[in-house]
Amino acid sequence: MTTGNVPGFVVRGVWCDPDDAGRVPESVEAFVERLHQAGINLVVMCVKDAKGEIFWPSDRFPHTVAEGYAEFDLPAALLAACRARGMQFHAWFIDFMEGKDGPAFTEHPEWAMRNPEGETTASEVLRGKPYHSVWMCPARRPGYADQWLIPMMAEFAERYAVDAIHHDYIRYPGDLAPDRYCFCDACLEDIPRYAGFASDIYPDEPFYHETYNRPYLESHWEQSPRVLPGNWAKLPRQMKSRFLLEGSFFHGGRPDLDYFFYRYRIEAIDRFVRQSFEELCLSRGRHDYHIPNISAAVFKDPVQSGRFLGQDWREWALPLGIAMPMNYRDHYPGDFEQYLVLLEESIGRQIQVTTFDETTLWPGIAINFLYKEEHAAGIPPGDVSPQKFLRTVDRIRATGVSGICLFSERQINRYGFWDAVREAFGKDAGP
Ligand SMILES: [Zn+2]
Repeated sequence: MTTGNVPGFVVRGVWCDPDDAGRVPESVEAFVERLHQAGINLVVMCVKDAKGEIFWPSDRFPHTVAEGYAEFDLPAALLAACRARGMQFHAWFIDFMEGKDGPAFTEHPEWAMRNPEGETTASEVLRGKPYHSVWMCPARRPGYADQWLIPMMAEFAERYAVDAIHHDYIRYPGDLAPDRYCFCDACLEDIPRYAGFASDIYPDEPFYHETYNRPYLESHWEQSPRVLPGNWAKLPRQMKSRFLLEGSFFHGGRPDLDYFFYRYRIEAIDRFVRQSFEELCLSRGRHDYHIPNISAAVFKDPVQSGRFLGQDWREWALPLGIAMPMNYRDHYPGDFEQYLVLLEESIGRQIQVTTFDETTLWPGIAINFLYKEEHAAGIPPGDVSPQKFLRTVDRIRATGVSGICLFSERQINRYGFWDAVREAFGKDAGP
């Protein structure tokens, strides 16, 4: 059932935590039935969290299984309950964020991102508090991406015929000084090689131009002079990092090396997206994998998140199936009415600048962030009107996209919005 000329949402999803579903078959059944009754037909369930714990009885990574989930097979129960109701199940992985006491970092500290001081993100302070997590380097090979994360996803894909593997935190850290990572040992070697800052065959040859007869120093770039300073090998990490971020392609030229630094990060994420797609989706025949698709939670403006997070999802078009931009209100300025306008504008831009279209772009909204003013006024979540939520869902529907995803099951509970969700999606789900 749809209203007017608007096609309505074919896919109506919600991000969920394992705690929401409980740890017995009966609680999983009740959980999925509750979503089903509200018109939700996609469960995006977290199966690897930000501490590095996983939520299935893994054979290959038994030491990372969260307490209680070796005994109870949550994904199997969830998949059966979803299939019985014609619902989709995407398996949600927190990709590059790990716990500082988690097994990946404890066993492989060399896989962590490092800042110019050689420290991990756990050394940073965010909003006055020590930062809780360690981000892992997406670029290093062999490393966390190809030795840990993709094999973990592959095991999941072998065990459970879910509809997609869902990437989240598929990026560099943003709220923690976006320009400080990654300068790990591998990246310090790889960035100059990636960008052609010296010849492997003539490592010490400066290759100055024969003539400097063009109007600008930068006009003489095409012969690929040696960019690294002569004392490169002797410089400590901090000075190498500073050169790679703030240095100049030409001695005496514009400080333009940050271009290569940001491109390197973008391409590291692109490569991971492509590799995960190839390992999980394309090799189905070879390995008997079952995953037909990849989805991802992404930031609202791919050009800007390319600069600040290494997440330019315009470039993921070929391998990635579904983009779920986190069009949360806290990612927009202004009041609620301005949010609705900016939200609609950014969905249009997301479709315009990427190769995702109305069928493959499923915007996400966060219920809690809609209620910024009520929160500031001290109104308890249970007492707020669902009108802002309903208007936001209607505004997204009016853009013509075929899917939407809500953050989150826990927030629906917190705000007591089950009737509101049923009302919002009733137009799409039919009687
Ligand atoms: Zn690195």
